[in-house]
Amino acid sequence: MTDKSPFSLALDIGGTKLEIGMIDANGNLLAGIDRIAIPFKDGVASLEGILDIMDDYVEKAKKRKGAFRGIGLSSCGLVDLESGVVIISPNQHWYGVPLRSSVRERFDLPVYTATDTRLAVLGEAAWGAGSKVQNFAWVTMGTGLGAAFFLNGKLYGGERGFAGAFGHNTVDEINGYPCGCGRRGCLETYASGRALARNGQAAVDMGHMTVLKEIAKDRRITAKMVFEAELMGDEVAKHLINQLVRYAGIGISQLINIMDINLIIMGGGLSKAGPDFLKRIESESKKHLFNAKAANEIRIIRESLPNSAMYGAAANVFMHFGDTEVLW
Ligand SMILES: [Zn+2]
Repeated sequence: MTDKSPFSLALDIGGTKLEIGMIDANGNLLAGIDRIAIPFKDGVASLEGILDIMDDYVEKAKKRKGAFRGIGLSSCGLVDLESGVVIISPNQHWYGVPLRSSVRERFDLPVYTATDTRLAVLGEAAWGAGSKVQNFAWVTMGTGLGAAFFLNGKLYGGERGFAGAFGHNTVDEINGYPCGCGRRGCLETYASGRALARNGQAAVDMGHMTVLKEIAKDRRITAKMVFEAELMGDEVAKHLINQLVRYAGIGISQLINIMDINLIIMGGGLSKAGPDFLKRIESESKKHLFNAKAANEIRIIRESLPNSAMYGAAANVFMHFGDTEVLW
């Protein structure tokens, strides 16, 4: 690396916070990653507010030595690859928000945009645990549940770039819980942080014997609290997490059965829960594999970069300039 390497500004816009950093064409982080709360107005994430936050960073990037290639954006929800419009992102309450064109107009720089899961795959494939692997899946387990694929040495997007929405595979459309997508009984209503928080709250509301009530005091139960309670030996919390592990394991085994992959890289808030949480999901998923022999080779690991989607957003910029090998 030299201080003249091309670099880009990369931004990962999540449901409640954004992460921003400068990355060079070799995948080196040039300064720290800043994590900033997204400003909301009447329950809707403020794009103006995000642009205001970006001002300082763009100024700093412009003053830096080396070729400033532009801005890479990652957003949760579904981002249209052609237009850079966020078609739907329930957490931000964005429906048809012209993300890329707004950023381009404000800063007059090249801007490239895609969905976070897709960019996480790109980041891992370019500079992370997926860099020497021909086939792997990325699974995000946080508030929701989603996946993206790297197959035969290339990013696989499907017909519209949305492949991997397995969190919205139906498990029980009759008795299931309502889902953020407007339907009922999707997998993510069983296997996500939101599902765990909801079940924890229900256990407290029904008066089950659990330390969750003490941990929460008067706050709503969160997924984090349920993990905390389990560490304290709480049986109710353990049961709820086992339930989550079961559904997550079944869901992931389905990805493996369909795609015949050995490596699952997991990101999202829940992937950071407890040291053995991913091991539990791994052994659960192995119970449901058609190819029993493959079970020995399956690995479920944590995201290998500080924020794979943000790194992928940078890689997406470099790909357009031929700075890194094209992967999709
Ligand atoms: Zn759904």
